[in-house]
Amino acid sequence: MLNADRVRKVNVDGLVGLIRGQIITPENKDYDETRKLYNAMIDKRPAVIIRCRDVADVIASVRFAAKEGLDLAVRGGGHNGGGLGSVDDGLMIDLSLMRGARVDPVARTAQVSGGSLIGDLDHAAHAFGLGTPAGFISTTGIGGLTLGGGLGYLTRKYGLTIDNLLSVDVVLADGSFVTANADHNKDLFWASMGGGGNFGVVTSFTLQLHPVGTVIGGPTIWPLEKAVDVLKWYRDFILQAPVELNGFFDFLTVPPVAPFPQTLHMKKVAAIVWCYVGSTDEAEKALAPLHSVGDLAMYGVQPLPYPVLNSMFDGLYPPGHQWYWRSDFVKEISDAAIDRHVENALKLPTPSSTMHLYPIDGAASRKANNESAWAYRDAKWAQVMVGVDPDPANATLIRNWAVNYWNDLHPYTMGGAYVNFMMDEGQERVQATYLENYARLASIKQKYDPTNLFHINQNIRPSS
Ligand SMILES: Cc1cc2nc3c(=O)[nH]c(=O)nc-3n(C[C@H](O)[C@H](O)[C@H](O)COP(=O)(O)OP(=O)(O)OC[C@H]3O[C@@H](n4cnc5c(N)ncnc54)[C@H](O)[C@@H]3O)c2cc1C
Repeated sequence: MLNADRVRKVNVDGLVGLIRGQIITPENKDYDETRKLYNAMIDKRPAVIIRCRDVADVIASVRFAAKEGLDLAVRGGGHNGGGLGSVDDGLMIDLSLMRGARVDPVARTAQVSGGSLIGDLDHAAHAFGLGTPAGFISTTGIGGLTLGGGLGYLTRKYGLTIDNLLSVDVVLADGSFVTANADHNKDLFWASMGGGGNFGVVTSFTLQLHPVGTVIGGPTIWPLEKAVDVLKWYRDFILQAPVELNGFFDFLTVPPVAPFPQTLHMKKVAAIVWCYVGSTDEAEKALAPLHSVGDLAMYGVQPLPYPVLNSMFDGLYPPGHQWYWRSDFVKEISDAAIDRHVENALKLPTPSSTMHLYPIDGAASRKANNESAWAYRDAKWAQVMVGVDPDPANATLIRNWAVNYWNDLHPYTMGGAYVNFMMDEGQERVQATYLENYARLASIKQKYDPTNLFHINQNIRPSS
């Protein structure tokens, strides 16, 4: 498997004495394990991987890449669909040794190291009965998730992850280290709220936390024959539901495991996964209208520690599967769009493939489009078609399904997509994502990274 001859050779002598973490080149026995990404469809071979242990390691790595003229990638949690945490023949800064969160329970904040996963933050914050919006799978990196926006179970109540971002510590392209927040380097802070990893390596995120201990959550499932009714009910219901209630819609094939009833095993279904921040009584009241849809096949909503809900589907989506996804922002779900959805749901190509509609209204919609780099505050959902399978032989099958499904629905959407749900889809798609914010982002990029050292990402090009 290891083929050092295929990879560019880089002399790493200049790093001796500067790195406390590990320097891994293709000859190293750990090379293949370390370069692995969550999406096994992407197989990149960096010339050198530096597993940074601290900020000083990151500074030395950035300076080394610039001096040697190496393409530079930054790996946070390694979850990016397009594999943008790694690079062929370049330098990968791997932040996976820089994990953990320090909670200030009085100020209700967490200082989260740049390579942390959602599970690390949940673990630290839950001990104090606190939490903040992040994603639905606990192995996702806080780094890429936050810099792209971050949506999760608490988004209707507390906004996107970036709406809870208080400060970032950043190593810039010239190796200097700055803090950006509402008072310092305000332009960089604005760009860090949705602009991705374009502006530097974030070694630490400070996030606002909220009282979130036990939530009332879990799935409700209907047979696929009810999908049109469920989706029509959901699109109207969720937008006027209390913001304490979050529910993402999905098509899935029910896995043959508890707690799903045997009668549903391996059946294609329509589902909504709920999270209510409040008491069981309030949750039942808020959810009562769903019983009007009829034919409910499973009601799996129950009190759960927030970290348990956040990791409920981890086992179904372990690292190492093939992934191909396509996304768009959605303002309205028309009857015609619902018909197209259901046609494509019938063709779910593999048991792990799915389609999700994540609500981004409520608190997430309270900001204007130019208050952060995230340019779609008027969107109501982020839609994503996700082809997944463990078998590389099915890579084309899942890719074709996701692309065809996306092609069918794209005319019913707002045109751009959530950066974190995009593959490597080119400049046109990046610009469609940032809309009128793109020009401002490009000038901030010009200021902080004029040579575009950080270009392995959904790239914002320097303005001149
Ligand atoms: C199973 C799964 C579930 C997901 N669920 C959600 C969800 O619920 N909500 C949601 O919003 N998104 C979700 N996502 C999307 C996720 O936000 C993106 O894949 C994101 O890029 C992951 O971040 P990462 O750090 O793990 O990725 P990586 O692949 O490590 O990095 C992604 C990008 O971010 C940059 N980056 C990462 N860390 C840093 C850093 N510290 N400093 C500078 N740049 C950095 C990288 O350079 C790269 O360009 C999910 C993804 C997967 C695979």
